[in-house]
Amino acid sequence: MFISQLIFKLLVQNSYPSFYNYTIVGAGASGLWLANSMLKHGLLNGKTLCIIENDTEKFNDRTWCYWAKSPIGYQEIISKEWEIIKNIYQKINPQIFPYKYYHVKSNDFYKHIKTRLKKNPNVFWKNDTVNDIDQITDKKISIKAGYESWESNYVFLSALPLSNKTTEQQRLTHYLGKQEEEKPLFLWQSFVGYRIKTTKPSFNPLEMTMMDFNTPQNQFTQFFYELPFSEDEALIEFTRFGTQVLDYNYAIEQINERLKAKNIDYEILEIEKGAIPMTPQFDQQKNNLPHNQNIIYIGALAGALKPSTGYGFKRMYHYAENLTQALKQTGTITLPTMKRKLRFRLYDILLLQILRDAPFLGKEIFVSLFKKQPVPLILKFLDEETTIFEEVSIFSKLPLSPFIKSLFKYFFNR
Ligand SMILES: Cc1cc2nc3c(=O)[nH]c(=O)nc-3n(C[C@H](O)[C@H](O)[C@H](O)COP(=O)(O)OP(=O)(O)OC[C@H]3O[C@@H](n4cnc5c(N)ncnc54)[C@H](O)[C@@H]3O)c2cc1C
Repeated sequence: MFISQLIFKLLVQNSYPSFYNYTIVGAGASGLWLANSMLKHGLLNGKTLCIIENDTEKFNDRTWCYWAKSPIGYQEIISKEWEIIKNIYQKINPQIFPYKYYHVKSNDFYKHIKTRLKKNPNVFWKNDTVNDIDQITDKKISIKAGYESWESNYVFLSALPLSNKTTEQQRLTHYLGKQEEEKPLFLWQSFVGYRIKTTKPSFNPLEMTMMDFNTPQNQFTQFFYELPFSEDEALIEFTRFGTQVLDYNYAIEQINERLKAKNIDYEILEIEKGAIPMTPQFDQQKNNLPHNQNIIYIGALAGALKPSTGYGFKRMYHYAENLTQALKQTGTITLPTMKRKLRFRLYDILLLQILRDAPFLGKEIFVSLFKKQPVPLILKFLDEETTIFEEVSIFSKLPLSPFIKSLFKYFFNR
């Protein structure tokens, strides 16, 4: 080690505490929701929290949409809300009451939550990469990042430690419990979107479009989202559910063609692209974590993303609230997981298997869902809050044979 590095290490070690009651790894959606819940519910009174994030330029790296009966967290971070989801397959009341569809820019979220947290002297921030965590005793975990190390009673991980000795794939496989499956069920929801400003009023800002399959499928399952922010500004997003991430140039061609067909003159304000994993691999199988578990996964790693939709922002908020409530208890604490009802897990698996093995059927399935069901019921179903009777009614109007085949595959040919 160079002398300068040694001096730096000694300085750093002497200027920061070597113990925090809690450490959160990753200041993304789940990490910040959790820190915010801890602050809100008094968990940081007399206790310290260290938040470590390795992305120094974390800015507007994504936008989050979700539907709910009222906004989660803070109204101030919502940049737009819609009461109508245009159902292009049905001519019925398009209101999504009792829900609204909300849009949050990640930068507004990061800024808002960080401002609240920064007012609390018990919250410490580190900008570094966690390389390793180690359980030292039942109640203590050691965390290493760069030249520093410290201990905590609880560590919450929204990202896997970046050990030099292992590849990302190895870390993930290890985390997923040494999966036996050779071919895990894993797809991507990948998308590319233009945020555009048009020269003439071109949109109705009161209505957003969720899954518009009026685009060539080319044997895939692909569709458009349209989120109008005003009459002359909108996000036009091309999305695919598939085993491979969407080719960027191909997506751009599809967006250009759509805008050309609509005869829209525009300038591009921003291009958004991303890929969200769609997999049941992260699903929790038990309701609670073991009593002594104090390394706790949060966010996507804890199964927050619904495998069939990729939505997870709202679930992360609720999980943060539940975790915090449980951490407030005294005595032997039982922490909850994000386990979902088994039947909803099965529905997701059946759909993902169809989308993996016969992606050309995706359009037929989704279009018949939107043709035959009111959107609020679809949203309730995707929130996993429907009754069995409602689910029977939904499935009875879908093309059944792909689901029956998928069920056979699930039981006999996994
Ligand atoms: C482009 C995009 C759009 C999405 N849109 C939606 C949406 O509209 N609605 C919705 O519900 N869901 C959406 N999702 C899915 C999901 O809500 C997000 O992925 C969400 O950000 C996941 O939260 P997380 O806390 O699990 O991970 P992240 O938000 O990614 O946070 C993990 C953090 O850990 C940091 N980190 C990584 N490794 C280390 C390390 N070793 N040490 C320290 N820090 C580390 C990362 O920099 C990151 O900030 C979207 C996902 C993407 C990728």
